[in-house]
Amino acid sequence: MNAAVAQIRLPHGLWVNGAHCRSAGLRALTGADEEFLAESEGTMLPVTRSRHLLARCLTHLDGAERITPEAIGELTVGDREALLLHLRQLTFGDRMQAILDCPQPECGELMDLDLQVSDLLQPPCPDPRPEYDYTAEHDGQSLRIRFRLPTVVDQELAGRQALSDPAAAADLLLRRCVKSVLNARGEAVDWSGAMLDGLPARMAELDPQAEMILDLVCPACKVSFSTIFDAGHYLFQEAGAGLNRLYHEVHLLAWHYHWSEPEIMGMRTRKRRRYLNLLLETLP
Ligand SMILES: [Zn+2]
Repeated sequence: MNAAVAQIRLPHGLWVNGAHCRSAGLRALTGADEEFLAESEGTMLPVTRSRHLLARCLTHLDGAERITPEAIGELTVGDREALLLHLRQLTFGDRMQAILDCPQPECGELMDLDLQVSDLLQPPCPDPRPEYDYTAEHDGQSLRIRFRLPTVVDQELAGRQALSDPAAAADLLLRRCVKSVLNARGEAVDWSGAMLDGLPARMAELDPQAEMILDLVCPACKVSFSTIFDAGHYLFQEAGAGLNRLYHEVHLLAWHYHWSEPEIMGMRTRKRRRYLNLLLETLP
């Protein structure tokens, strides 16, 4: 068994030809993935970048004939976040440290944050389904909504729209996810986003991994606040430190161990850094 490949159970899963697919295999990051992250910075939206990164690192995805960025696009946003957290855990371990500014303008104190990947991973959804029903009340009438959860590609399209028109982005997401809206007589209703009050909250409830909210208290001013933890952003910061550093590490290892560039770039990030530390300890 390859210790660097983890078998993951997706919290929600996806349906392919009626079969519920929920398992994935994931390997740790290598130097080549770090190179991809460094090169894609600023040229891809973060959501596109994480989709491509996962396509590189997944070794198996139930229901997908080939693991492509398009196949990752079909996952729910929560499943994507879970995979990114597992990828982080597999590559760098469970413990995560971050520095955060207190959001109180008169405080602004820097806070050290100590997080565990295992604390952020949500339990699997108890009753996942390809589509869900929700009843909203609008203007005294009851609307029966059939919808599916937002996927990575829905989020990406909405993200692109939000760059020019944030209001239209929310609408675009709903248009893609809502299958039908019926009135009490079972007739299709011509709906707008404003009529589907409560639906985004219901979607978030059904895919709790999609938005990880940290409830924090500033140790300096004692004010409590909430912030969203973005697994992709954290991983990009940690692993996409830049090509100069990466190539310098490859150069040192190649110079002293005589390994080839592809061998070093294909090595797991953690292993490469361990060799590098050993080398730096022994160099005069
Ligand atoms: Zn504070």
